[in-house]
Amino acid sequence: MTRAIPALCAFLAAVPAAAVTNETHDMDRTSITEKPYGNVHDAAISLYTLKNASGMSVEVTNYGGIITSIVVPDKEGMMADVALGFDTLDGYLADQPYFGATIGRYGNRIGGGTFQLDGQTVELPKNNNGNTLHGGPRGFDKRVWQADVTDGALKLTYVSRDGEMGFPGTLTSEVTFRLRDDNAVEIEYRATTDKTTVVNLTNHSYFNLAGQGNGNVLGHLMQIDASAITPVDTRLIPTGELMPVEGTPFDFRKPVAIGNGIDADHDQIRRGRGYDHNFVLDGGGAGLRLIATVIEPSSGRILEVHTTEPGVQLYSGNFLDGSLRGKGGAVYGHRSGFCLETQHFPDSPNHESFPSTTLRPGETYTSRTVYKFRVQQ
Ligand code: BGC
Repeated sequence: MTRAIPALCAFLAAVPAAAVTNETHDMDRTSITEKPYGNVHDAAISLYTLKNASGMSVEVTNYGGIITSIVVPDKEGMMADVALGFDTLDGYLADQPYFGATIGRYGNRIGGGTFQLDGQTVELPKNNNGNTLHGGPRGFDKRVWQADVTDGALKLTYVSRDGEMGFPGTLTSEVTFRLRDDNAVEIEYRATTDKTTVVNLTNHSYFNLAGQGNGNVLGHLMQIDASAITPVDTRLIPTGELMPVEGTPFDFRKPVAIGNGIDADHDQIRRGRGYDHNFVLDGGGAGLRLIATVIEPSSGRILEVHTTEPGVQLYSGNFLDGSLRGKGGAVYGHRSGFCLETQHFPDSPNHESFPSTTLRPGETYTSRTVYKFRVQQ
């Protein structure tokens, strides 16, 4: 049951005005195919393959809105899958650290699993040392999304009912995946609610630009346009302050190997067991812009991250310990992948000084992130 759908959309006319960009990219020649991927309870799950004219492909399943693979060339034109994950749906159904997943209703942690919203106390189920991580024990990464292939894109929709995982309001979320001819994966998020709630959606892909399963990422050169981070307490909850990166292992304003400061003698590094921090992006909120560039010197692969979000979580795979076996039997050792999760700041509902994550009826939450791949010339 494989169906090929030629993409129809050549223009970014389909992109809402809120996504500020002057570039247009061809998605005319992207094909999207669907195949069965197994079942979750009574629901048949599919795997969608988006393939562009340059041969790059991305696979996404409507279980958890998970990106299961990203196959891109190196400087010699050799293709490799640069996303950690599993060969089959079973791998994603087992206990695993959010490989490739769409995260919601609230990305990252909410301290103590509680916050005040319009004078009411909201209590959430706790799933991470007394806190709520990535939307709770059954977040959007563990839900079946409705899939539609339209205008050269895969649109996933999930309706989270009022009270699900403790959050108020029925939230309708749409996540649209597009693959462009210039080897860029665009992810566009939209959400509306019928009661005031909080929203923070992201994607939790783990990248290894040398190819998944190919050692650790410590030699990757990382550059992030951020002059500060939101430092965390011992529970990994933001203290509410901003910490300038100047003179710390968090200064990625010029390209630095991830391994350089990952074990530095610094309180924040100790708390995160490496990098597990929200970077406050310079010029955050000013439309879609390039915020991070990662270079893997041996393959020459480069990842650019563009986003409309004010923050990005750099997570250096500190909790990977070699106990998980991924695609093709790959052993995912310590720090064998990194995440750049574009987001509003963790625990924002408990910090008035952070950009607001509140969504009210009548408003539309929008967010856009582009993961663009290229090679060193
Ligand atoms: C968090 C980590 C967590 C990981 C889940 C990241 O977004 O910041 O603390 O361990 O997700 O595997």
